[in-house]
Amino acid sequence: MTTSAENRDQQNVVVIGAGIAGLMAAAAVAPHVDHVTLVEQDDLHHAPLVPRRRVPQGAHVHALLDSGRGVLDRLLPGFIEDAVAAGSLSLAVRSRWRSFDGHRWALPHDTGPVILSQSRVHLEFLIRQRVIALTNVQIKCAKVYGLVEGQGVRLTGVQIATDSNALSQLPASWVIDASGRAGQTTKWLHDLGYDSLSETVASPDVRYASMILDRADTDNAPCAWLQLAQAPTTRGLVLAPIEGGRWIATITDRFGAAVPKTAEAFLQALMGDFDPKYRQICEDIAPIGDVSRFHIGTVRLRDFESARLPSGFLPIGDAVATFNPLHAQGMSVAALQAEALGDVFADNSRRDGQILQDTYLSQALAISRNAWQIGRAVDMSYPNFQADADPDARRQALALGAAFAAATVRPDMARQVDRTLHMLDPFSALTEPLATAG
Ligand SMILES: Cc1cc2nc3c(=O)[nH]c(=O)nc-3n(C[C@H](O)[C@H](O)[C@H](O)COP(=O)(O)OP(=O)(O)OC[C@H]3O[C@@H](n4cnc5c(N)ncnc54)[C@H](O)[C@@H]3O)c2cc1C
Repeated sequence: MTTSAENRDQQNVVVIGAGIAGLMAAAAVAPHVDHVTLVEQDDLHHAPLVPRRRVPQGAHVHALLDSGRGVLDRLLPGFIEDAVAAGSLSLAVRSRWRSFDGHRWALPHDTGPVILSQSRVHLEFLIRQRVIALTNVQIKCAKVYGLVEGQGVRLTGVQIATDSNALSQLPASWVIDASGRAGQTTKWLHDLGYDSLSETVASPDVRYASMILDRADTDNAPCAWLQLAQAPTTRGLVLAPIEGGRWIATITDRFGAAVPKTAEAFLQALMGDFDPKYRQICEDIAPIGDVSRFHIGTVRLRDFESARLPSGFLPIGDAVATFNPLHAQGMSVAALQAEALGDVFADNSRRDGQILQDTYLSQALAISRNAWQIGRAVDMSYPNFQADADPDARRQALALGAAFAAATVRPDMARQVDRTLHMLDPFSALTEPLATAG
């Protein structure tokens, strides 16, 4: 990545939302512009390690895949080492991120990828500390109400309001929309007269219930334990070690099946509904706090690439696409998009506004589509799963199923499967050779 002074331009970037995507976008573009202002509606000073009001998914397990882990360390050098020193755990897939397929625990041999495990709140806090230490980045506590367009469909800023003030304008040469799954992106574009975005929708219909537990063990190299729900079963469990000597336990279920509502029901399920390994690990654990729940009925992929958009508008993260969270893709997709964004800002040959926007959107959509296709291929093993009518979907699902089966006996295939699921290689690296082989 080029960060030389020659590439810097007198430009101010406004990022809507200081969640994971917004923070990573700020880190990525900061070396190439004059100033970055993150606008966040939540008060970030209040109880920094408690899930935020506008990010309720923060109470649930959030595994950072290897692709996201790598980007973070490139954008914020030394981040992973610092995070581990602050309590995050680097867990090698298969040997320390153990998985059970309903019949047996996968052999604990490493395939390469490593997951960074901690609570989502802690991860966001650590990234935020690094990002606000950048001299040209600031966070402003305010709510964005709209985009402001100048002459010639170029964005000139956003409309904001703080608690105490009336509406005002915050000028910007570029607006990065990292407003997330609940953001107002479509309304803001509609208010400026742009057509509705075309969306691809799927219905994973997943319910989450999570609790934090005290990790009252003396094991200083704990594993995460994942019991995958595999069709036709729908109930799954992940017990992952996180910062502060704690576990996060998340029970998931699908297609209308309920998850535990009370701490008592949760602990009963944890001890009785899954592999006996969990009973053994959880015998002496004490719950901290109550059960949090979340329901993800549908997910969507917005086609920003072929939409007419105001110049200077750059969406990222959940503002572009939401995914079935069981595949743990969202934060890593945002990370890969942030890196792509930094690269297009760094490249002088793309500094023309339209070229930069088009280049970024094409890369951002390719990253989201890749993740979308992986998730869809896994989910198609359930007859209740409803997705878009992509003619390639069935072939991709069959190829992925064949790769999963081959991975149980072929270490090279296990490695390729894990690299693909971690978005280190494109999905086509897995599906195309298999399709060609017949
Ligand atoms: C239950 C669940 C589990 C998940 N598990 C995983 C996992 O294991 N691994 C993984 O990688 N991903 C996971 N995800 C996805 C992950 O949470 C997101 O993809 C990721 O955090 C990126 O989010 P974001 O920053 O785009 O949006 P968000 O996290 O939603 O952040 C958006 C931010 O924008 C702010 N904002 C919105 N509108 C405005 C406005 N008008 N003005 C000012 N500020 C505004 C919000 O307050 C918020 O802070 C999970 C999601 C869910 C729902």
